Amino acid sequence: MSLVMIGLEIHAQVTALKSKLFCSCRGNYRDFKPNTNICATCSGLPGTLPVINRKAIEYSAMISIALGCKVPNKVMFYRKNYFYPDLPKNFQITQYNVYGFSSIGVEGIFELDDLKKIRISRIQLEEDPGRIAYVDSGMNVTNSALIDYNRAGVALIEIVTEPEFTNPKEVRLFLNKLSLTLQHLGVCDTLLEGSVRCDANVSLKGGNKVEIKNINSFKEVEKAINYEITRQSSMYNRNIKVEFETRHWDDRKKITFKARSKEEEHDYRYFPEPDIPVIVLGDGFVSNIKDLMPELPLQRFNRFVSKYKLSEHTSNILINDKKLADFFESILKIHFSPVEIANFLITDFKSLIEDDVENIDYLTNMKVKPEHIGELVKMIEENKISRITAKDILIKIFDSGKLPSEIANSTNSFKISDEKILIDAVESVFNTEKSAVEDAQTNHEAINFLLGKVMKFTKGRADPKIAMRLINTRLNKAGT
Ligand SMILES: [Zn+2]
Repeated sequence: MSLVMIGLEIHAQVTALKSKLFCSCRGNYRDFKPNTNICATCSGLPGTLPVINRKAIEYSAMISIALGCKVPNKVMFYRKNYFYPDLPKNFQITQYNVYGFSSIGVEGIFELDDLKKIRISRIQLEEDPGRIAYVDSGMNVTNSALIDYNRAGVALIEIVTEPEFTNPKEVRLFLNKLSLTLQHLGVCDTLLEGSVRCDANVSLKGGNKVEIKNINSFKEVEKAINYEITRQSSMYNRNIKVEFETRHWDDRKKITFKARSKEEEHDYRYFPEPDIPVIVLGDGFVSNIKDLMPELPLQRFNRFVSKYKLSEHTSNILINDKKLADFFESILKIHFSPVEIANFLITDFKSLIEDDVENIDYLTNMKVKPEHIGELVKMIEENKISRITAKDILIKIFDSGKLPSEIANSTNSFKISDEKILIDAVESVFNTEKSAVEDAQTNHEAINFLLGKVMKFTKGRADPKIAMRLINTRLNKAGT
């Protein structure tokens, strides 16, 4: 038995949907004032009937297929009964695997890397509850709670893995790959605030399983699991039994804490949802969905390597940031020079935005557009500007949004290939660096030194090839 066993339950909102799962209220509830994105159905009034969102079935099937799951022919919804203020109907409509009917995805296999695969036990489609906002009246005293039902009824998928992770790093790798897959499918924007949540169960040495609830971002999951492993190991070392329990993750204090015991005592009394009939997907359903599916990260990686002749390293960097990969491909439509453009993006371009990584939407809001990078790289290739100058120009584009040629003109940044100007520069360097000139007759390194001086003299704008030729000519002259 492995020392550490970790399983995950991930909730991700299907953010691409225009409406909620069972009514026509908006799927994107984020811009609404509290309790204005609700109707009789999603606020659970008696006598209302849910109507299933067809796209939600299609998107969740797409996710299931992308994560290596089987999509059954018939799917069915269940009521999960519990009382909580954020749940207007006092039950959640979800899926459950019993009586030969199953959730939208089952028996998945997701490849973590060449060596390891993680089995996914099921993927289910369900409704999100509302949100509770606790009003803090100062001194850490919480004396009232407000409820916002705008989110209630938003489509959510739950992905449940087998407890097959053996360390927090595998979990991080899985979540990164999962995010990337969901982003490529274009159905779940995992970067949106509150769009993903994760529960993790952790057990050590075959002992009791501890469930950590409410981890509110993928970034926090690894930290929460690390904390829990340390906590449980230290209990083993002191011969204290680890209880089967539910704990919460406090992302401010970075600790897990025991949930109030009432929260653990659940009997959900699942029963089939009588208001939604069994959904028969039909024979052609899965193949139709497969036809509609966008390119997945691995396929895109293979295409980048074969079609664009990019290295695996470069392709990986691009694919791991979907928006950057999209940006790259839109530049190619303007100037088709894949290798040069990819290299420019992952070095010069990325080094400028790296300081601003918190701004996850950098590619949407910035002034640098595909035509800027296209023109800039073309100018490097045509030997009009140096690579160093290109980076300076890029900084100016970030600020002004002006075209590279315009900036190069106004800042006098074009390379100097005019021989008359360069002969003067060489002459001037030869006059001031007499001993280096003498050395250069026998020592090649001294020639490079002279070239460096010419570059400095022209503020980096001299065309190095021409400058080198002129230096050699001048040296030959001096030698005779
Ligand atoms: Zn509604």
